Amino acid sequence: MDLPRFKYHPDPVATGSVKASEVQCACCRQVRGYIYTGPVYATAELDESLCPWCLADGTAHEKFAASFVDEAGVGGYDQWDAVPAEVVAEVAHRTPGFTGWQQEQWWTHCGDAAEFLGVAGYAELQEYGEEAVAFIRAAFSEESDLQGQELDDAFQEFDRDHGPTAYVFRCRHCHKLGGYWDCH
Ligand SMILES: [Zn+2]
Ligand SMILES: [Zn+2]
Repeated sequence: MDLPRFKYHPDPVATGSVKASEVQCACCRQVRGYIYTGPVYATAELDESLCPWCLADGTAHEKFAASFVDEAGVGGYDQWDAVPAEVVAEVAHRTPGFTGWQQEQWWTHCGDAAEFLGVAGYAELQEYGEEAVAFIRAAFSEESDLQGQELDDAFQEFDRDHGPTAYVFRCRHCHKLGGYWDCH
């Protein structure tokens, strides 16, 4: 069965937010073959127990009042483009989230939420290309106050599994790559 399409998270299997699993979904009670592994903000304990179909059609959100991304994190707590309330709702309530070291944020650009492409260390950032490298390096420089060789050395320590870690997004309109970084 084809996975549902997520406008803001095009390949959740590649990012690790959805994995093949024979676990029964806590929402539809079916074994669909895939389960959501990212964060769930709800009063019920729902870790690794929702299928991507129940995320996509909003039933998991409705049934459990669950969010998968913090609403205020869409736009990075007002540091990036503001987006319409329906975009915040689609990202927070009907899109697989991802797991960061700190409260996750969702990059916005051109007045819309961007597509989440994945978590990245130094090696993965190189694969995304110069634009992603430059964007994350600039954000890192700004927040760490490092410069020159010190900045280069610290930037090369970026690691997908240990942090500091980058979260890479692509604008759905101008296709610019961007995102943010965090660490423990
Ligand atoms: Zn389900
Ligand atoms: Zn854009």
